[in-house]
Amino acid sequence: MLIMKKGHVPIRKCAGCGKKAEKKEFIRIVKQNDALIIDESKKLDGRGVYLCFNSECLKEARKKRRIERTFSIKINEEFSNQLEKAVNSTE
Ligand SMILES: [Zn+2]
Repeated sequence: MLIMKKGHVPIRKCAGCGKKAEKKEFIRIVKQNDALIIDESKKLDGRGVYLCFNSECLKEARKKRRIERTFSIKINEEFSNQLEKAVNSTE
């Protein structure tokens, strides 16, 4: 469900806490070639999962298996570490 604001800024929702904001506020995760990647450009095709820059949100999303369910894929340890770093970055 998308809510359009003035200027048509698409609003995304955090998979952890459910906060809604512009996508620049979030980390974007996408699946490409059967692997999960963090979409730094936030412009890659396909469905995305969004997370706040907050390790609590990552924890919550993982507890609810949001990422696995969305993409039907297991999160491996390497990607898990990448995510951990990304949510703790201040970008
Ligand atoms: Zn959040």
